[in-house]
Amino acid sequence: CGIVGYIGGQNAAPILIEGLTRLEYRGYDSAGISVLGGKGAQVHRIVGRVRNLTAALPKRLAGKVGIGHTRWATHGPATEANAHPHVSEDGRISVVHNGIIDNADALREQLTQAGVTLSSETDTEVLAHLIARSGAKTLEDAVVEAVSRVTGTYAIAVTDTEHPDRVVVARNGSPLIIGVGDREMFVASDLSALVRHTSQVVHLDDGEFASVSATGYRTFTVDESDTGKAATAIDIQA
Ligand code: GLU
Repeated sequence: CGIVGYIGGQNAAPILIEGLTRLEYRGYDSAGISVLGGKGAQVHRIVGRVRNLTAALPKRLAGKVGIGHTRWATHGPATEANAHPHVSEDGRISVVHNGIIDNADALREQLTQAGVTLSSETDTEVLAHLIARSGAKTLEDAVVEAVSRVTGTYAIAVTDTEHPDRVVVARNGSPLIIGVGDREMFVASDLSALVRHTSQVVHLDDGEFASVSATGYRTFTVDESDTGKAATAIDIQA
């Protein structure tokens, strides 16, 4: 339902929570965040309101990269295990997803046969495992490879504890935008989560990917050709 992401010089958790709060009006049944800090990916998920998530967070949740989600369940009931972010078995890859993966059942079956223990009933979880198991050298390649195996609609944001200097995103049929700040970057499914931080935004098209770092971003297609998408100014009446 709602996606937020942050990478920059500030603590990510409060920014993610604030962004999720701004997306609450869209409706949701559960929420969660993953923050990359000293201890790898710190994942916190709850059923219910964003304020319950805030209450469940440890006092010290340090980390300047993270992603967050408000979920409107389509595959599997609203439980903590089904809430996003979904994480690979080794804890490296965190994924948030809006949309519906049509071939999730087949992919879940294939992953199970390959020895993966699935920990949720969602369609989304397959992405975390496909990315973690891709064997590609870069996170960007791994995301391209994983996304090439799914059919359906998605906006996703992905972090990798082994590449904590980036958030990789992809879009097909669900909105996703990047907000460009001053040595910090934002990701969101909806402008309302970004307007407080920046007026420079990049609208991804269907079939487009982006690798977002604190100081810049690169947009590209499934065949890895750069699309060179420029940021545009938004004009929002307060
Ligand atoms: N299909 C995914 C799920 O059920 C994502 C739903 C959403 O867009 O929030 O977990």
